[in-house]
Amino acid sequence: MATKRWKCLECGKDFGVGEWACADGVSNHVVEPKMYRSLDAPSDPSTKDQEMKHAQTVVCNIPPPTKVMEGDDVRWIGEGSVVFIRGMFSTSDPIQQYWLDKRPAYNASQAEWNNAWLTQNQKLEIRDMELKAGEQKLINDRNELLSKVQQNKREPVAAH
Ligand SMILES: [Zn+2]
Repeated sequence: MATKRWKCLECGKDFGVGEWACADGVSNHVVEPKMYRSLDAPSDPSTKDQEMKHAQTVVCNIPPPTKVMEGDDVRWIGEGSVVFIRGMFSTSDPIQQYWLDKRPAYNASQAEWNNAWLTQNQKLEIRDMELKAGEQKLINDRNELLSKVQQNKREPVAAH
């Protein structure tokens, strides 16, 4: 199994799984924020727009509880959960990253997220913007080319 390592933004330490405590011994290390995306968007087109605005999903077991023995009794403590809003959750907590990285359902790409979460209109707007940006780039390229051609034409004249 590959050993995952992070670098703490607070204390600068390079650390591995389980070595969560930062220099002060109380708080956890803080790492580069990472965005997680899930695709469990509301799919009913008639209510989609309305539901999207308030969509929240609680993901349990991030991190899972740990087992402690109290005499002969087993107790599970410290289970955490995170809240995805509109299928997105960003965290700089290495423990949450470690457990979310193990769950493919929460590691969707931006393109997959767009596809699941954007309404048909939003998708069309984005495509429209991309088309316009593409057109503008073509115009810019053509203008640049034209000005180069004109410069080349001018140069022999300027040499006289
Ligand atoms: Zn640290």
